[in-house]
Amino acid sequence: MSDCLFCRIVDKKIPAKIISETAGLIAIRDVNPQAPVHILIIPKKHIATLNDITQFDADIIADVHFLAKELAEKEKVSEEGYRLVLNTNSGAGQSVFHIHWHLLGGRVMNWPPG
Ligand code: AMP
Repeated sequence: MSDCLFCRIVDKKIPAKIISETAGLIAIRDVNPQAPVHILIIPKKHIATLNDITQFDADIIADVHFLAKELAEKEKVSEEGYRLVLNTNSGAGQSVFHIHWHLLGGRVMNWPPG
C-alpha cells in the first residue's frame, strides 16, 4: 500500500535502521525508542491489525516469535528479560496501521503496562 509508512519502509522508499531481514519480515530500530533496546518486527505483508489476520498468516506469526528470540539474544537482553508488544487499534496505542511487534529490553519493565 503506497500510503502505508511501514510498506514504504519495507520497500526501502523510506530509510530505516534495518537490523534483520528475512523473506517475510523486516526488523528495524524504533525512531522514538522507549527502552535501550527497541526494535520493531514488521511483516512485509500489509496486515492492518491483529484483528485482520487469518489462518493463512500463521507462519508469519510464528516467524515473528522466532526472530524476536534471535534478536533478543543478539541484543543481549534474553537473559535479563524483554517484552514483545503488539498494540491493536488506537485504544491500545496503535498509531501505525500495519501490524508490528515491539521488542523492548535493556531496562526494568513495569507491570501492568500503562
Ligand atoms: P504503534 O504505536 O504500536 O503503532 O507503534 C508505532 C511505532 O513506530 C512507534 O513506536 C514509533 O516510534 C515508530 N515509528 C514511527 N515512524 C517510524 C519510522 N519512520 N522509523 C522507525 N520507527 C517509526
